[in-house]
Amino acid sequence: MQIQAVRGFRDVLPGEVALWHKVEEIARSVLERYGFREIRIPILEKTELFSRSIGESTDIVEKEMYTFTDRSGISLTMRPEATAGILRAYIEHSLFQLEPVSKLYCIGPMFRHERPQKGRYRQFHQINAEVLGSSDPRTDAELLALLRTLFEELGLGELDFQLNSLGCPRCRPGFRSKVAEYLGSKKAHLCSDCQRRLMTNPLRVYDCKVATCKEALAGAPVILDELCQECGAHFLSVQKNLSLLGVPFSVNPFIVRGLDYYRRTTFEVVSSDLGAQNAVCGGGRYDGLIGELGGPDLPGIGFAIGEERLVSILQGRAGVPSFSLDLFLAALGEEATEKAFLYLDKARRLGLKAEMDLRGGSLKAQMRRANKLGSRRLLILGEDELSRGVATVKDMDGGTQVEIPLEELESAMAGWKEACSQRG
Ligand code: AMP
Repeated sequence: MQIQAVRGFRDVLPGEVALWHKVEEIARSVLERYGFREIRIPILEKTELFSRSIGESTDIVEKEMYTFTDRSGISLTMRPEATAGILRAYIEHSLFQLEPVSKLYCIGPMFRHERPQKGRYRQFHQINAEVLGSSDPRTDAELLALLRTLFEELGLGELDFQLNSLGCPRCRPGFRSKVAEYLGSKKAHLCSDCQRRLMTNPLRVYDCKVATCKEALAGAPVILDELCQECGAHFLSVQKNLSLLGVPFSVNPFIVRGLDYYRRTTFEVVSSDLGAQNAVCGGGRYDGLIGELGGPDLPGIGFAIGEERLVSILQGRAGVPSFSLDLFLAALGEEATEKAFLYLDKARRLGLKAEMDLRGGSLKAQMRRANKLGSRRLLILGEDELSRGVATVKDMDGGTQVEIPLEELESAMAGWKEACSQRG
């Protein structure tokens, strides 16, 4: 019987990988320009790390984690997000002693047992960035400016930046009880999940996508009216600095995010190209979390970009990079094939992307293969060429054809490599 992939887990096939490379290359380049350094953390962590940081009454911890007991009887969880693991590593290795502000990023898979649909998978990939040690509102603006630059360089300058503040332990409890009171009066209109959320975590209702819950929220209290003086000043300063850096944004008081640890600034970047799952990136400030996880009392802020969603927007655009080859070698006859096989290896060692069809076949079939692979040059080595000690080289772009003596072939290939490097 044929075995298929696990539901919600997808393969990224070779035809799609070029776009993933492009996204990750540009992301690394922008992140490093903004002072971030990569950290690689494990996929498995102790379950407690996530329940303590993300929050017991969040959807992720309540029903979406891949949690199991390993052979030593320890409860482990496949990371549903990266912030908790990055903070664990930051504390465990005392990275805060190395520099006053740490800027860390991480790229890799996350796991959530959600209902699979377009744009929502059970294994998905995120690009995460965290700034640890700065509470300055300029840091919030800098992080959003980084995202602006990253999306612009990917050709996605039109994405919508939505901003909110969730307040702090001083102002949020008052807001929370107002929300609970307001939603209590609308209980009959809420979905069953939200009726439960009303008891455990009423702010979560702001995140619900069900139409009747959305309607019930019209007229609901707005956090921005309840912010304490410090949170209000912080939020204003973030907006002022965003304007200074020319980052366009809109304020959306309904951005509450699905994780409990957020304080003050929260944001989402949304795309109109994506349908229901339209958030490409989410993030916010989590001052207090490092202390709660056993580290020093330092502030932090970060974001997570969903790579599948970015790739999906880019797939719908023109200019998708296609796989192209520098050289295809076609040979006829055993002796010529042996020579071509040797030149194939030499070409690759010189840095060229080179291929030949080791199954042999007619010259026509081999040329078809060269075309299919999008090769820039075709090198033909038939019995006639071999007897004259030359190779025929055809430029597939311009159609011109030259003969190159075999003893000059290596230096010609080195020249092609040089030309490729200059083209970039
Ligand atoms: P979150 O960690 O929930 O704030 O998500 C951050 C970003 O990751 C979202 O804006 C999405 O782009 C992406 N994302 C979250 N969950 C999924 C999922 N199940 N499948 C694909 N992408 C996801």
